[in-house]
Amino acid sequence: MDSSSQLYWGGGVELTTNAELAILRPKVVGGGSIVNQALMDRFDDVALDDFRSASGVDFLASDALAPYYERAEGNLVLQEVPEQHRNGNAAIFAGGFERNGYRYAPLRRAQADCRFDDGNSCIECLGGCRVDSKQSTAITALPIAEQHGLTLLDQVEVDQIEERGDHVVVRGLVGPPGHQGRRQEWSAQRVVLAGGAIGNSRLLLASGYGGRLPALGRNFFTHPQFMNFGVFDEPVHAHRGPLQNYKSADPGFRRQGFKLENVFAGPASIAMLMPGYGRAHMRRMRDYDHFGCVEVCVRDTNPGRIRLGRKGQLLIEKRMDAVDRQRRRAGADAIRNIFLSMGAREVIEGDVGIGLHLMGGCAIGTDPTRSVVGPDFTLHGSSRIHAADSSIFPKAPGINPALTIAALSLKASESILEAAR
Ligand SMILES: Cc1cc2nc3c(=O)[nH]c(=O)nc-3n(C[C@H](O)[C@H](O)[C@H](O)COP(=O)(O)OP(=O)(O)OC[C@H]3O[C@@H](n4cnc5c(N)ncnc54)[C@H](O)[C@@H]3O)c2cc1C
Repeated sequence: MDSSSQLYWGGGVELTTNAELAILRPKVVGGGSIVNQALMDRFDDVALDDFRSASGVDFLASDALAPYYERAEGNLVLQEVPEQHRNGNAAIFAGGFERNGYRYAPLRRAQADCRFDDGNSCIECLGGCRVDSKQSTAITALPIAEQHGLTLLDQVEVDQIEERGDHVVVRGLVGPPGHQGRRQEWSAQRVVLAGGAIGNSRLLLASGYGGRLPALGRNFFTHPQFMNFGVFDEPVHAHRGPLQNYKSADPGFRRQGFKLENVFAGPASIAMLMPGYGRAHMRRMRDYDHFGCVEVCVRDTNPGRIRLGRKGQLLIEKRMDAVDRQRRRAGADAIRNIFLSMGAREVIEGDVGIGLHLMGGCAIGTDPTRSVVGPDFTLHGSSRIHAADSSIFPKAPGINPALTIAALSLKASESILEAAR
């Protein structure tokens, strides 16, 4: 609980305005790369065709992005978990897919040495990697940037940005969380926003950009995820060894707008997802070691909106509409088939939806009435404020976003350096 409140904004989780989704928004240096599952996939043509038609940006295509994907992959160690280390949960996932004729594939993770041979269990992975195997920006990009002269300031929350002639002024609060910070101002010729979908939108909205950028805060997507559990008579030991190994690779699932992942989590997180209260909840949690777990990740179609309330407070409006709910249902049905075919005595659907791929709010595009950032990664109407992170996604890709964020950042760096020259 303590680590969650330190790792994420909002004391651990933030809620959407209708409390339908729990939003996990990382706040540490390195952002999501510290806490994420480190799955690294390129986008397919389904995602990129959608991105291109929503944005009018030509380079959002497999061929044009291939060199940037290659460079992004070259900056990381990428591995599949070796067969001999796959745990009971992985065996249920693979067996269930085979029995139902679904297609699956091994996951490719950004990890260097998870020390499985030493008996290391990765259940803590989502709280940050203790053995520095996970290829977070804290051990990949940031040290290189520091060699190139980056000065990193932590424990700073920026709340105002303003373009003034030939420079940009940024203001914020400096100091450890929970303490009264001191206000400070920085000035630079250029600023690259990298606060994520919510961070960037919130900063720009609070700085008065909403009036001139009508699409600001809109087109917000989260890939809502739901963890479902199969309860087995024999222990599964899903918490032992590698956190996860497999993903769905079924064209039918892709068409239906969802994907499935082999995953598990620590007791506190599982308890939060487990339906029921009091004794009934406790009885269920006693089965922790007997749970198999598969997560359905929805490629959401109904865009949300990031807004500020009258007192400047953050409001995250995000609703799953009938299409999104149907996608969740289709995924849950496939999971049920998987667990039952593997002999589960009960299937439990987690009833808390989690939004952890936070995307959009500053969508890239050619039309300033429908997007916020132009194809040169510069805010429409600005020549000095740039953005190159998940906030520029115009749609939900239905594929894990981190590798594409890295690839697009490399592309953005070229056009930003070019403009700076
Ligand atoms: C539990 C979890 C598992 C995930 N698993 C995967 C996965 O396996 N594969 C994958 O591809 N993706 C995964 N993701 C998603 C992925 O991590 C994010 O999409 C990605 O990190 C977003 O990158 P970003 O740079 O846009 O923003 P972030 O990584 O969120 O970084 C934004 C940073 O800006 C800071 N910030 C925001 N506002 C301000 C401000 N006003 N002042 C100062 N700093 C500010 C934040 O604190 C944060 O450090 C996962 C996410 C979570 C939470």
